[in-house]
Amino acid sequence: TIGMVVLDLEKKISAGTSSNGARFKIPGRVGDSPVPGAGAYANSFGGAAATGDGDVMMRFLPSFYTVSQMELGTKPGKATTKAIKRILAVYPKFSGAVVAMNSNGNFGVACANINKFGYNVAYRNGTVFTFKIACLSQQKTFSENLDKP
Ligand code: ASP
Repeated sequence: TIGMVVLDLEKKISAGTSSNGARFKIPGRVGDSPVPGAGAYANSFGGAAATGDGDVMMRFLPSFYTVSQMELGTKPGKATTKAIKRILAVYPKFSGAVVAMNSNGNFGVACANINKFGYNVAYRNGTVFTFKIACLSQQKTFSENLDKP
């Protein structure tokens, strides 16, 4: 799944996903990507988009949770981390990621168990830059998940 959060020049926020779905999915499976709050969510405070095990994410609505946290004043990196940790507390092997941006243009990312090389993120504001973050199962670099810039 590709997830994207956009803040436009009028300060309007949008979030969306594009997904081919889960591997070996059964015919007719819808998955989390088109479900508001699970795959993506946005309001005037911020937006979030998720990838990963959609059958688990549909039970936790990580995108909605992340935006709700930002609405309460939590920074995007911390909000995404809380959303992922909330799932890991129940499913320690959960694999997934959430990206988020608030209405100030601050963004953050958290992931869990994606792969040992980390999770690829791209950010564009005039110029594009890309970076990798370490996922939550790699505790030693956990602080890298937090808010940028
Ligand atoms: N979330 C997608 C699904 O479960 C899969 C993915 O993110 O790659 O349908």
